[in-house]
Order: sequence, then C-alpha cells, then structure tokens
Amino acid sequence: KPDLAGRISIALGAAKSPPVVHAIDIVDLTIRQGEVMGLVGESGCGKSTLGRIAAGILPPSSGSVLWQGQDRAEMSTGQRFAADLKAQMIFQNPMAALNPRMNVEALVAEAPRIHGMIKGSRADYVDNYLRQAGFDPSMKGRLPHQFSGGQRARVNIARALAVQPEFLVCDESVAALDVSIQAQILNLFMDLREQLSLTYLFVSHDLGVVEHISDRVAIMYLGRIVEEAPVAEVFARPNHPYTQQLLAEVPRIQKGKRRFSAVKGELPSPLDPPKGCHFHPRCPFAHDRCRIEVPARQEIAPGHVSACHLNDAAAA
Ligand code: SF4
Ligand code: MG
Repeated sequence: KPDLAGRISIALGAAKSPPVVHAIDIVDLTIRQGEVMGLVGESGCGKSTLGRIAAGILPPSSGSVLWQGQDRAEMSTGQRFAADLKAQMIFQNPMAALNPRMNVEALVAEAPRIHGMIKGSRADYVDNYLRQAGFDPSMKGRLPHQFSGGQRARVNIARALAVQPEFLVCDESVAALDVSIQAQILNLFMDLREQLSLTYLFVSHDLGVVEHISDRVAIMYLGRIVEEAPVAEVFARPNHPYTQQLLAEVPRIQKGKRRFSAVKGELPSPLDPPKGCHFHPRCPFAHDRCRIEVPARQEIAPGHVSACHLNDAAAA
C-alpha cells in the first residue's frame, strides 16, 4: 500500500568524486513506513554507506534523500534537526558506541537531554526506555563494561529509543552476539516494531537474520541495488545472477544459521568499478552488452525489481 506521505525514500545519484571514497553508485530505494527492509550484499559493497545516508549521518554526494516525501536538502534547519532525531542508527559494536566512563542512565539520557526532550524526572524518563529495551532499570548506575554483549546491545537500543525515533537503521546490529542472544535481540526489534510502529532498514550479511526479520529485501552489489523484492519472493525466485549466486544453498553448519554462498571471483574495487553491469567480470551469463551498458531496473513481477539485461531477452 503505497502511502506517499508516509514514505521514506532514498534516491541517490552517481557519486564519483575521488579522493572522497563513496561506495554508493546509483541507488533508488524506497522504504515504506512500518516495513522492515533488509539490505544485503558482500562486505565492501556499500551497505554501511547507504545505511548512514539513510539515517542522515552522511550526506549523499549527489542525488537526494527524501524523508517522508520531503527532500532533506530542502528542509529548514529545524526540519532537518527533527528528521535527524526520527532516524536513528544502531551500530554493530555496542562497546565502541558507548562511552566507557558514563553509566547506563547517563548514556540513555545523553541525547534526549541535549535535545530538551526530558520534561520531568531524568530517572523516570530513562527507566521507561530501558524497560522498553528489556533492560532492568535497577542496574542503570553501572558502567557499560559491567554488562554482557547482549545487555550492552539493549543499552544501545534504549539510547536510540530515548529520542523517540520512527526509523531505525540497524547495521549488523546482532552480528557480534551469540546465536541465542541474537534471537532475543531480533525478537526485541520485532516487538518494538509492533509497539512503536517503527520502520527498519536492516543491514546484514547473515541470510538467516534477513529472512527472519525482513518484509522486503534489497540486494546490493558495488554501490548499486541490483534486485529488490518481498522476502519470500527473493528467496524463492531470485532473478539477478548475483542474487542467485549469493543465495545458492550452502550447507547449514549450525542449525538455524545460513550464510551467504561465496560468490566466485573477487569483489572489484568500488573506486573503479567495472563499466556497464558492475557484475560482468564475475557473471556466468555476461555478454557484450553487459560490458558497455548499465542494465536498467525492471519490474519483473509485482514488487519484484531486478537490473539485468537477461530480462530484456526474456521479455522480447
Ligand atoms: Fe550478468 Fe549481464 Fe545480467 Fe550483469 S547484466 S548480471 S553481466 S547477464
Ligand atoms: Mg559494512
């Protein structure tokens, strides 16, 4: 159900201005309010950069980022300020994100205090968000290093919730945690989504995690989204040769754990990507046109978009 007013759209143009390193090339991604968009691809493909741009931490070098239908570049300072609070990022390593000298209460109160969001008692304000994140508020006087990885992840989540966001960008947010803790944190994300009507961009290299949590999935290769589809569709009918290789069934070493398949060949440098279709040096179906012409995004089934020249042949 497209709802333009409620959309968070990210539409970026080409970014090619070395020496500034930008892993993003051409991206046109729309995240609908209330959905979980999974973003996957090999490391170095630009997922984290896109996540940061989506969260408003990094400006696009060209193109535009629309927040709820409005171009960020055209917002007043006040509007951008508000949009920045509504989009929060949860990083991979909770220890690195938390100042080791601040106790949990101070950590959670930090941003809302700066933004004047705490009207009554600071302790009550903090307790509310710690509870939402499943963290026992009676331990809020302690320092981050006194907690396990899972507890620190909850503190990190409480910190994000404390500024009352609408959109969370999770960049490998559970990657460093044990499998059992991962499941708890993923369930927490799902519960929070229901309770707070949150929208997520979920960046992950873990297939199991993406399959579990996402409504739709975007596959990224060297700075471009090469395929985008509802999660069940992309797993059942991957269209793009890159997606097909990435999702090729791999032996499950651990129950419930699926990793991406190793795609043959090396990932070329994002600073000097191959011309035409970036994937052509590694693609078993590459032909002359692929080396020259960038494949256009085509809707091959409702809500299923792919960018590969083979789809022209199929349609002809
Ligand atoms: Fe392969 Fe060509 Fe399709 Fe790119 S456009 S994925 S090189 S067949
Ligand atoms: Mg990354």
